[in-house]
Amino acid sequence: MKGMKEISALYPEELKAVLEEMGEKPFRADQLFSWLQKGASFDEMTNISRELKEKLRESCIDRPVSVLEEHRSRVDDTVKLLYSLRDGNCVEGVVMHYHYGYSLCISTQVGCAMGCRFCASTLEGCVRNLTAAEMLGQVHCANALLKEKGGKIGHIVLMGSGEPLQNLPQVERFLRLVSHEKGLNISLRHISLSTCGLVPRMYELADMGLPVTLSLSLHAPNDLIRRRLMPVAERYTIEETLEACRYYVRKTGRRVIFEYALIDGVNASPECAAELAGRLRGFQCHVNVIPLNEVPERQLYGVTDSQVQAFLDALEKRRISATRRREMGDDIQGACGQLRKHHLEEARP
Ligand code: SF4
Repeated sequence: MKGMKEISALYPEELKAVLEEMGEKPFRADQLFSWLQKGASFDEMTNISRELKEKLRESCIDRPVSVLEEHRSRVDDTVKLLYSLRDGNCVEGVVMHYHYGYSLCISTQVGCAMGCRFCASTLEGCVRNLTAAEMLGQVHCANALLKEKGGKIGHIVLMGSGEPLQNLPQVERFLRLVSHEKGLNISLRHISLSTCGLVPRMYELADMGLPVTLSLSLHAPNDLIRRRLMPVAERYTIEETLEACRYYVRKTGRRVIFEYALIDGVNASPECAAELAGRLRGFQCHVNVIPLNEVPERQLYGVTDSQVQAFLDALEKRRISATRRREMGDDIQGACGQLRKHHLEEARP
């Protein structure tokens, strides 16, 4: 399989070059592009000649991702997916049903190197970056699943395993393709990218002219607490990170979402809420408060409903827009990285 080209993440001009190498007419590139962007296999491409399909099968990959496991929630419409990749690795994703349609959480790396202490995706480090074709493949798999209900993915969050900004070239390619008017045409305004705060890359993203919503994993009101939870806080202070967020808002006109997981005895007190509100005053932002999905390996524990409410009230009193993130698929290992971890443990001798 080595040397096979993943052609589903090629731009039309690049597909033209591939076809020319094969001695084919370049005008076929547009037809091929539109099939590949729909997630079609070579077999399903009805207006492509048998000879060309044969050539493509010999040296190219149409679908780099397939579904290995599917877990449907009994309490809501959430579906958690474990995808298998061609090299034997696996990553996970979640399809969520909101009043505005279906949203997909996708992974950008196998595992993650960032070491956030509350996250199961990082327990075994980062294995490798995903390619843009593998990111698109996750969307295609989810769309195939929703087809029976007449639905399709309209929103995307890059919030599964991996730090998207550590894999920025492939993430950029994915964003340009998934929003391509001749492809899935998902508006960039319906896409959120979550980062733990790689400051220089946040500036790079802001300069790319891709108006996605930036979501920052903040999780602490000050550097002292943040350093206990996130190694990235040793490299960049909260103030430096917020400055990069302000730049993002100025460049893109999009507001920033701050993710804040409440962890008992660490960052969940009303004093922390007051300190956080002070930091965010005047910022065009929203705070997503998330009761922690516990990671017992790290001895970090969640909070009660009344603690969540008290935290939200303290923010609201200080005029900071905040909501509790809806917990979905609680009965199907909803926390990021749990499903893959479980799968790896089962596969071990
Ligand atoms: S929270 Fe995100 S950046 Fe942090 S370790 Fe998990 S996947 Fe990586």
